[in-house]
Amino acid sequence: MTPSHPASPHAINADLHCHSTVSDGWLDPEDVVLRALANGVDLLALTDHDELGGIDAAARVASAHGLRFVAGVEISVSFAGETIHIVGLGVDHRHPVLVDGLAQLRAGRDARAKRIGEALERVGIRDALAGAHRFARNPALVSRAHFARHLVAAGVMPDVKTVFDHYLVRGKPGFVNHAWARLEDAVGWIRAAGGIAVVAHPARYRLSGADLERLFDCFIAAGGEAVEVVSGAHTEDEMRRFASLARRRGLLASRASDFHGAAESAVDLGCCNPLPADLQPVWSRLM
Ligand code: AMP
Ligand code: MN
Ligand code: MN
Ligand code: MN
Repeated sequence: MTPSHPASPHAINADLHCHSTVSDGWLDPEDVVLRALANGVDLLALTDHDELGGIDAAARVASAHGLRFVAGVEISVSFAGETIHIVGLGVDHRHPVLVDGLAQLRAGRDARAKRIGEALERVGIRDALAGAHRFARNPALVSRAHFARHLVAAGVMPDVKTVFDHYLVRGKPGFVNHAWARLEDAVGWIRAAGGIAVVAHPARYRLSGADLERLFDCFIAAGGEAVEVVSGAHTEDEMRRFASLARRRGLLASRASDFHGAAESAVDLGCCNPLPADLQPVWSRLM
């Protein structure tokens, strides 16, 4: 079968990582699905941060329009002093192990948001927590992205990326350390719920080469199976680098826009590059 054969998974426009208002996306879950349809997506996963609250609504609209839909989540993990994101695909979004693990993670996120608000207060930015809450449609899921949007709206900085660079990344005044899930736990929750664990946007982590290898050692030992080779957060060089890693490690490959909204995301739903033809698409296991 050649990669261009219609029956080949490579011929399918799969987008397996994006966000709705249930976490830090701009569109409701229903509108994410409609935009994906309009963009020609054949297979969509909604993967909100630490949340499954959008899955039912998205699945309903997808089913009504004949779009193949995969229940997903993007779990925040701490590893080697860095925050790592592990995507779970094809999960049972009602499985108690996954649901309870994510509920704990969200409780920690709430406490962290308060600390971010206090840290910004110390550098003279008042009421940032209330401001972030105005941008967070889900009060249980306040993200740094909501703080960034508030600071842009308040005229503190011109755009979200500049806010991150000046205030919200490690070493900047609004950054607070936080212990997210353990890698083994996040992969375990996903597997307990019948899903496939995927390392999200691996080029984005500030890890040494040795720590990155250790990340994949631990991920695979825990039962993780895939890596985002094509990501909206990757350059073409980074894509080639992680295609090599997928080959060397025998991992399935994912393709993902990581779309948050038209004004904030460089890559729209379904508009990613194709996967290199020799890699096995993770979605061959999801269809
Ligand atoms: P949090 O989970 O609260 O740490 O927020 C992480 C989210 O902030 C990511 O999922 C992105 O949506 C956004 N984000 C992180 N870093 C940046 C950045 N440098 N520029 C713009 N958005 C970012
Ligand atoms: Mn995000
Ligand atoms: Mn991420
Ligand atoms: Mn994401």
